[in-house]
Amino acid sequence: TVHHQIVIIGGGAGGITVAAQLLRQNSKLDIAIIEPSDKHFYQPAWTLVGAGQYHALDTVKDEQELIPAQAKWLKDYVEKLDPDNNLVVTHQGTQVFYDYLVVAAGIQIDWHLIKGLPEALGKGGVCSNYIFEIAPYTWELLNNFAGGNAIFTFPATPIKCAGAPQKIMYLADDIFRKNGVRQKTKITYCAATAKIFAVDAYAPTLMKVVERKGIDLKFKHNLKEIKADSKEAVFDVSTDGGVQEVTLPYDLIHVAPPMSAPDFIKNSKLATPAAPALGWVDVHKHTLQHKVYPNVFSLGDASSLPTSKTAAAVRGEAPVLVENLLAFINKQALNGYYNGYTCCPLVTGIGKTIMAEFDYDGNPISTFPIDQTQEHYTMWLMKKYALPWVYWNRMLKGQAFEGSFLRKLQGKK
Ligand code: FAD
Repeated sequence: TVHHQIVIIGGGAGGITVAAQLLRQNSKLDIAIIEPSDKHFYQPAWTLVGAGQYHALDTVKDEQELIPAQAKWLKDYVEKLDPDNNLVVTHQGTQVFYDYLVVAAGIQIDWHLIKGLPEALGKGGVCSNYIFEIAPYTWELLNNFAGGNAIFTFPATPIKCAGAPQKIMYLADDIFRKNGVRQKTKITYCAATAKIFAVDAYAPTLMKVVERKGIDLKFKHNLKEIKADSKEAVFDVSTDGGVQEVTLPYDLIHVAPPMSAPDFIKNSKLATPAAPALGWVDVHKHTLQHKVYPNVFSLGDASSLPTSKTAAAVRGEAPVLVENLLAFINKQALNGYYNGYTCCPLVTGIGKTIMAEFDYDGNPISTFPIDQTQEHYTMWLMKKYALPWVYWNRMLKGQAFEGSFLRKLQGKK
């Protein structure tokens, strides 16, 4: 049995950022981070890894290097949450008591919900950038593709980085053209959703990209099975008359798998009580404080915050969580306010990116003095070079959010 003043579950983007920011404000805080993995990944670059634009090994660092020196690392994973007793229980059976809890455990990938996928993944033309080990295989497939049917899917659940399933498709189109196989290739986007992107400001530009690249769009197509032997993908297609099964042949398929809240959260009292919210940590969307247990806060993919789940969103959430948690500890009012800020660098080809930044209501929040609803080479450079640097050297070190500073300089909100 151990006790810490502040316990953080997860040492990913959210957990490390919050720990670093808290300790910058008060180095005397007693903080423990519970994180099972030796490695920490910069997941946003996996899209570029899949397109041969980034080395996989450059997306990973040792977790040890990133845990702030004053924080204690408990290398274990949480299995049970008992908020009535301010207690979490780990896999190894350690009882960790806390005064304040921050949940930043990320999202769970449910590969098993697609029949045949776990066995098929990583060979025979089936790839996914959603896993570190397989992203290099995406590149191998794209670069060696000799033509045929290339399918890119988007699932029916919330996912992290909702743009990633289409970014790799646009990059694939460029690679096929460069390799002279585009004319022999049919590219199809099969999405369970009804439109190309949830935020309307960026959809017209994306539709132009789709048209320019000659991509076939199939909406309301929800992947449910991979038949590896016959190289077929089976979809449930919603129509006015109900759900119909459609089978499409593939030579290459990039799968964005279904995802959900981690099981240990779903099965706990911290989870949102009812569908359709699917068991995320039930926090107030502006303060990040739990709706029932006031000494619990959450951010990032595991939280119920109704924004697009990205590391950029974490960049906007962390300062608010830190401000409010410190205020709560000091018995003051919670003045930190999160407006839903998130950012999805929509890579539309090699050298092209739409830097989509928006709030809860889908209002664009533009950090740069350019029209961010359009494709830009400078934004590609941001995605490929600047953002990874900012992540490792500023965000995870608890430095202030440069985006809000840049916007203030321009007199923007
Ligand atoms: P994570 O960073 O995933 O961290 C969660 C941590 O919790 C992990 O270290 C995990 O080991 C740990 N954990 C899990 N279970 C437990 C447990 N039971 N107990 C203790 N610890 C646990 N974001 C962008 O901003 N821009 C992009 O362009 C972008 N592109 C992406 C492309 C891909 C292919 C992927 C996969 C992601 C992309 N993202 C992007 C999303 C971004 O990586 C995540 O939104 C971000 O990492 C969320 O931070 P988090 O702290 O909530 O979760």
